[in-house]
Amino acid sequence: MLVTPARTPTLKAQAYTQAKRTFRLSRTSQRRSTANVVMAQSTTQELRAGDVGEQGGEAFFPTAPSETTATGAELPTEPPMRIGHGWDIHRLASREEAGQGCVIGGVSFDDTGFELGTVAHSDGDVLYHSLTDAILGALGLPDIGQLFPDNDPRWRGADSEAFMAEAVRLMKLRGYRIMNVDVTLILQKPRVSALKAAMKENVVRICDTVPARVNIKARTHEKVDSIGEGRAMSCHVVCMLENTK
Ligand SMILES: [Zn+2]
Repeated sequence: MLVTPARTPTLKAQAYTQAKRTFRLSRTSQRRSTANVVMAQSTTQELRAGDVGEQGGEAFFPTAPSETTATGAELPTEPPMRIGHGWDIHRLASREEAGQGCVIGGVSFDDTGFELGTVAHSDGDVLYHSLTDAILGALGLPDIGQLFPDNDPRWRGADSEAFMAEAVRLMKLRGYRIMNVDVTLILQKPRVSALKAAMKENVVRICDTVPARVNIKARTHEKVDSIGEGRAMSCHVVCMLENTK
């Protein structure tokens, strides 16, 4: 349930406002390429930080350093650690129906022999979406669908790196950094084992962390249900954040 964000300006909120900035994400300059992998088509997109969707995440930041429980205990609103979980699923279809190819963890599978595309408003990156939701969830913020509505033409075919980068920006504004990230891709196809290293490199870069704090694993769905029949793919992410203040 959404809580109406506090609009009363505070010193903290003013600091957040001052920290807002415009940044440009260029997937061509930031994405790494690996042998036999062609990255998703080059697009440049502007995201005005702090003004995502209609519910800028900063509006949901705690406005007091501590709060009192019903029994009188004083608890800090920003604990030393926070944990978040993200989950996502996308349907796979012919590239003609999907209108695009398949991108997972910022890595395109278009030239790997995988013939299907991901059905989504954005590029449908199931790993980036679940990781974005894990970070937003750890921070107690609205989810990816609320911050980046799928009826907003800005996000049609969007590079999902923009969503993850915004979650990381909000995480840093709150004084947190990645403690560790554990990703579980669940998909029958495409086969991802050869490209997990490239996905990890992308996650490490966007999360501004180190490889030892990121784990990406993948498994099948034992050929059962839509995922097992190759008609969809999904991903779970658990991430832990540590307070740096
Ligand atoms: Zn998604």
